[in-house]
Amino acid sequence: MAVRTRWTVDHSCGHQVEHDLSARPADRRAGFARWLEDRDCSPCWKAARDTSTAGTREWLAAKRAKEQAAASAWEEQYAMPVLDGPDKALAWASRCRHQLVTAAYTTLVVEGFWDETDWAQAEEQVRTVTRAGWWLDQRDADGADLPELLAAATDADRPTENPYH
Ligand SMILES: [Zn+2]
Repeated sequence: MAVRTRWTVDHSCGHQVEHDLSARPADRRAGFARWLEDRDCSPCWKAARDTSTAGTREWLAAKRAKEQAAASAWEEQYAMPVLDGPDKALAWASRCRHQLVTAAYTTLVVEGFWDETDWAQAEEQVRTVTRAGWWLDQRDADGADLPELLAAATDADRPTENPYH
């Protein structure tokens, strides 16, 4: 008697599905059928995956909208200039700027030794860097590195007529 190729599996989602395991070696079928039992059937697995992807996308969109609102409020409060760059990069760059500058404030002023005068100077430098691409490039930067990054961006040795392009 040959080892059977069709196995009826009770999936963890509660569905019973008959699987054709003929593609697997005879001595692996029982193990594979057992492995399948611990899993949802494929329609359930796909449905769960699609739901979580849609959920993640919604969650990300909501998170982004919240960050954007925070960035806009911050720009207004601190009179931050509008960034220059391609339209589609502006919102993202503005979120990057907000995040990096607030991270720097936390590290340098709240947790560090900077006073408000030091910070006001840094903030002035922040206002001079309006190239969206620059802020996008620094999106993974550490807040503590902002002064050095700003110093490089506003380096007086660079051509002065259009230093940020
Ligand atoms: Zn199922």
